[in-house]
Amino acid sequence: TGISKEKTVKTTCPYCGVGCGVLATVREDGSVGIAGDPDHPANYGRLCSKGSALGETLSLEDRLLYPEIGGKRSDWDGALTLVAEKFSAAIREHGPDSVAFYVSGQILTEDYYVANKLMKGFIGSANIDTNSRLCMASSVAGHRRAFGSDTVAGAYEDLETCDLLVLVGSNLAWCHPVLFQRVEAAKANNPNMRVVVVDPRETATCAIADLHLALKPDTDVALFNGLLGFLSETEALDRTYIEAHTNGFEDAIQAAGACEINRISGETGLTPHDLATFYTMVARTEKTVTLYSQGVNQSVVGTDKVNAIINTHLATGRIGKPGMGPFSATGQPNAMGGREVGGLANMLAAHMAIENPDHRALVQSFWQSPTIASKQGLKAVDLFNATRNGKIKALWIMATNPVDSLPDADGVAEALEICPFVVVSDVTRAADTVAYADVLLPAAAWGEKDGTVTNSERRISRQKKFLDLPGDTRPDWWQLADVARRMGFEDAFHYDGPAAIFREHAALSNAGNNGSRDFDISALKDISPAAFDDLEPIQWPQPGTSVSNGETRFFAKGGFFRSDGKANFIAVSHKEPRKRERRYPLVLNTGRVRDHWHTMTRTGKTPRSSSHIAEPYAELHPDDAREAGIAAADLVEVKSPHGSAVVRAQITGRAQKGSVFVPMHWTDQVSSKGRIDAVVAPETDPVSGQPGSKFTPVAIRKL
Ligand code: SF4
Repeated sequence: TGISKEKTVKTTCPYCGVGCGVLATVREDGSVGIAGDPDHPANYGRLCSKGSALGETLSLEDRLLYPEIGGKRSDWDGALTLVAEKFSAAIREHGPDSVAFYVSGQILTEDYYVANKLMKGFIGSANIDTNSRLCMASSVAGHRRAFGSDTVAGAYEDLETCDLLVLVGSNLAWCHPVLFQRVEAAKANNPNMRVVVVDPRETATCAIADLHLALKPDTDVALFNGLLGFLSETEALDRTYIEAHTNGFEDAIQAAGACEINRISGETGLTPHDLATFYTMVARTEKTVTLYSQGVNQSVVGTDKVNAIINTHLATGRIGKPGMGPFSATGQPNAMGGREVGGLANMLAAHMAIENPDHRALVQSFWQSPTIASKQGLKAVDLFNATRNGKIKALWIMATNPVDSLPDADGVAEALEICPFVVVSDVTRAADTVAYADVLLPAAAWGEKDGTVTNSERRISRQKKFLDLPGDTRPDWWQLADVARRMGFEDAFHYDGPAAIFREHAALSNAGNNGSRDFDISALKDISPAAFDDLEPIQWPQPGTSVSNGETRFFAKGGFFRSDGKANFIAVSHKEPRKRERRYPLVLNTGRVRDHWHTMTRTGKTPRSSSHIAEPYAELHPDDAREAGIAAADLVEVKSPHGSAVVRAQITGRAQKGSVFVPMHWTDQVSSKGRIDAVVAPETDPVSGQPGSKFTPVAIRKL
């Protein structure tokens, strides 16, 4: 496609939400050299072990190269005609809500945009959800409850310029390694900087902690409500900020209750001394950032946890100012881009709300679409439950592997067996979901596709092509637009490339936006293909748009996106975590390891990524191991009412008594019975729909 070899292309890493810039150099022999982009503001040249091994993951081994129907090679015309016919027939016979898309934080913003437009504006359903539901849906819900918008208020530099960094439910060292390196360097340069890690486990991140609060699982609301009470009782509040920019403080403080250290100690399992130390540190440190990640979000009380944290920042006015604020670190490379285009079942587009009739009218008019979804669609877990109950007649899964990664993974496999028509677009055969596809569509992979992604600090970067498309592979947006046209939506899906889609997305961000919404990138709505190609990373709010105040942060002086411009405190109270039955006495916590990514379809290709940790394991406390007669390196079965997995025992004081940690990456393809999501309960937060993947009661026994 005219890309000459030896050319170095600026792109971004396809893994975590840090969104590091990468320089990819295709050499004469076809190998690809990978280096950190020294000019990219996310990483300034750094890469972690996953990013630096990217060049070793580009082989065509396991690649899907041609469309398949019923397991037999086909062509695009045959496959896409069938997809369009089956979706159209289901809509005709059973209505628009009988079809669904399940997409991914791995796809690019342009792919997401076209998928969302087709489902919400042309099919007329909001049944499009994404694996980002498993990642940050509770943050989205918490932001919207507090700010009236899904706004990440701060920026990465705040983590470097604060004097106190509180990391909640975040193993930053393994899950956002370059951000961790930046924090490590900042701490080395600033002797006043303190780091507190709030996590039931002792993780690699604790290496930089001045204080590790190993609280009982799912008791974060008690901890942060106690902090709110403490701030109030010690006169550490910013009454002027509260008065000028917020609503609901009294209700929140009443729900939080008095700061009774002994009660909070009982609820959280933390010592009164540690609690007092933590509360005093926060009260005395103006420049405080609270960064949270999946330990907060992946919980049946995840949204309440998010708001308990945000409440403490609103109460102190420590938000949006340099070195201050709550900060959600997203897991995936483009979870934020998905949020911008509204590619979730409970969002519209350009941060507009599906519940708002004016927003619906704006989007429909902009798209010139025949319809617009008028109510929320099915969120990930509900979507697969509905599929299992026979309500979804045609399902398109894109760039994600739910048979390995959703809770109750065996139930997901059953749902796909039941679903009359399943389409899977992917780059690889090494995903267990592929086996359930009636139609398989070979997608363009990292290095072959072109578009944009948005990282955790609202920075839009280009992900660029430096390899030719192998076989008959095509980008996801191309597949979606082609199917849309075949479904009869001729006029609205003619794009000659990702730049055209980006321009439309940017223009929509300004529709009816007079500063009433946080997301506005309309300054880029006329960007030429050449300028799009050279687009440097940009962070919104962008200068020259409705919401720009010349800052890279939001809310330092209020300006929240509610009708009165104020933020809401949310009154949340601690709920005792679910009682464990005698049959399932331990709590299963799942998460990432340092060198693998999701279900290992890419990182599994390089031996380097397995040299750190080669097989799935269960981190067990010595007392629990002793009680169960388990010795180090024994094979053990981890079992819940939903399923079981077999992993190797690792006995360590890093695990909290009563808890077991198992990494989420291994599938049955690479480790027989190592698929831990078969064990995880499909219970969700009632507000965000995010599964509580870190709290499943389980039993463990030696095999
Ligand atoms: Fe990629 Fe994240 Fe590592 Fe950066 S920190 S190189 S984005 S995996």
